[in-house]
Amino acid sequence: MKKPTFPRVPYPIASRPKHRSVKRRSPIGNHCESFGKKFVSTSLLNLGFLLLAFRPLPQEVLLATLPQDEPNPLPTVEVPRVQAVVASHAQVSLQQVDRIWESTQAQLELAQNPPTVYHVAPEEFRGQTVYDVPLPSQDRVVALTFDDGPWTETAQILDILRKHDARATFFVVGSHAENKVDLLRRIVAEDHAIGNHSWNHRYHPVSTTEAVREIDRTSDFIYEVTGVRTGFFRPPGGNLTNGLADRAAQQDYAVMMWSLDSLDYTVSVPEIVNNVVDRASPGAVVLLHDGGGNRARTVAALPEILDRLEAEGYRFATLPEMMELSVSRRQKSE
Ligand SMILES: [Zn+2]
Repeated sequence: MKKPTFPRVPYPIASRPKHRSVKRRSPIGNHCESFGKKFVSTSLLNLGFLLLAFRPLPQEVLLATLPQDEPNPLPTVEVPRVQAVVASHAQVSLQQVDRIWESTQAQLELAQNPPTVYHVAPEEFRGQTVYDVPLPSQDRVVALTFDDGPWTETAQILDILRKHDARATFFVVGSHAENKVDLLRRIVAEDHAIGNHSWNHRYHPVSTTEAVREIDRTSDFIYEVTGVRTGFFRPPGGNLTNGLADRAAQQDYAVMMWSLDSLDYTVSVPEIVNNVVDRASPGAVVLLHDGGGNRARTVAALPEILDRLEAEGYRFATLPEMMELSVSRRQKSE
């Protein structure tokens, strides 16, 4: 942009006004004392009249002179209060307004385009059928896995896990998740991992087309609702031969089986507790259920499972966490 130019002098030097020195004399000059005194006394008198003329009238007089239907025009707002409000607003500088605006925009953008979160296995587990995760005996970590939800009992299970600060992995059925979107989001919000347990929980053999649909539809739905891309698949009923597990392995999912079945779908609460606690070991993958039927027994057994395993020094991790731990331990020992 061209810089604007200004004339160096606003007008020709020749036409500049000439300043003449003017001698000013005080009205109370030494040579004219009596005139000065007279001027002062007259001025004071005038000032007195002026003050009398502009003195505030009593309120009754003011009100009496007003028309009756007019509202009272006397100040009703506390001036110091108004000043304080103005002062507090004035403290917000333009820079601060800019910052607030930018941060609001960023939050809006985040809400509209949440970042993708990956719940995936480390490379060596992808495309593999996994029963447990190798860990040294001093790493007292197990992975609790819950199948067939989200379901009515999922909220109670999440409450119990939160109370114990325990993480788990939820293998969700797409057609169940469709009706429990809030629970699906809560699972992710509370730092648990999500796995794919197919859309319709099919046991019978499926065609390749059906397998693709069962797996993709579920993973896409999980992503749309939670922003999570899952790399874990658990075959319904643990069936490794009906076409679903093969398709998942081809797509590089870790096909997750389990090493410890709680039998929470068939035995009593004390038996569920004992099944898990007595057989727990570092790197175990524990099968439990939060959906697909009445899971009151699982809900009843879970606090004692957590209490007793905690007392034995166990921690509860998600599958990706436990796998990452396994990889880092092996790399250290190499
Ligand atoms: Zn299942």
